[in-house]
Amino acid sequence: MRRIASKSGGGPGPELGHAWTRYRDQYRDCRLCPRACGVDRIAGRRGVCGETAVCRIGAVCPHFGEEPSISGRCGSGTVFLAGCSTRCFFCQNYRISREGQGRSVSPEELLAAVEELVRKSVHNLNLVTPDHFWPHMKWLCERIRARGFSLPFVFNCSGYMAECVVRQAVEIIDIFLPDVKFMDPVLAARCMGDSRYPELALAALRRMVGAVGFLRPWRPDGRRTGRRGVLVRHLVLPDHVDNSLLVLRRLHEEFGPGLPLSVMSQYHPTPECRRRGLLNRRLAASEYERVVAEVEELGFEKVYIQPDFGDPDYRPDFDASDPFPAPRSTS
Ligand code: SF4
Repeated sequence: MRRIASKSGGGPGPELGHAWTRYRDQYRDCRLCPRACGVDRIAGRRGVCGETAVCRIGAVCPHFGEEPSISGRCGSGTVFLAGCSTRCFFCQNYRISREGQGRSVSPEELLAAVEELVRKSVHNLNLVTPDHFWPHMKWLCERIRARGFSLPFVFNCSGYMAECVVRQAVEIIDIFLPDVKFMDPVLAARCMGDSRYPELALAALRRMVGAVGFLRPWRPDGRRTGRRGVLVRHLVLPDHVDNSLLVLRRLHEEFGPGLPLSVMSQYHPTPECRRRGLLNRRLAASEYERVVAEVEELGFEKVYIQPDFGDPDYRPDFDASDPFPAPRSTS
């Protein structure tokens, strides 16, 4: 039988090979995240993440808005994936994670776009919300390595991960940037519909730290970017300082004060927050200061605190051709 390579993720063409067929099979009876929907995405079904087996992207671009250890001076080579299995209603990337914005790409088109990106001297390849497209991401990383690029691969995720994806990811990913969003299971259930988030995120984090350690080299000014390890992110939510304190205490208890942390203040309510009447305001400076005080009391040693409280520049604009257009300073 003649095989015809589809433009959008069909049978393997010469570039795709047999590894792709094996990876792609994970989209059948999909269990790539803890939702374990069991749908056949190859047949065009969608689970909670909202995506079939056709990869969709929001943007592929150098990103200057990550922490300096990731963006450095030349930017982080970022692939924003469309859809999301975590689906927090307040998602700051809601245009691509919840509202369907993005465009379909075949594996070959994705590879070509990423190859062009990594030729721009970016510091790393940064895969944003990659879990539900893990088969594509795994194939992509292998092809990029096979073409001789040695830049670190970054898995930039919500922390809500299936064991099978963590297990595969630690084999090929150099840097993990997981969120730890909630330690309050009730808040997790209200925001993303799964009270298991705290324990699942901690289990994934243990495995990441066990595999790659803490982010290093640690040069918070970005003069040398990270090559390997874990940097944990936490976005402080309005009216939920207690959740942030629980997160910090649990991280300290499990991983000690050497765990690199980024504590973010840029929360901005989304249209869904207005519809629900929940988390419907910016963070107050006093709330952020309370969380930062706890970071200091616990003695965390490697911490990014946002110097410009609530800076809107940290939020991407996915209607623009480049969601993070330029460095604000390169001095
Ligand atoms: S990746 Fe999507 S379809 Fe697969 S289990 Fe998760 S939410 Fe369901």
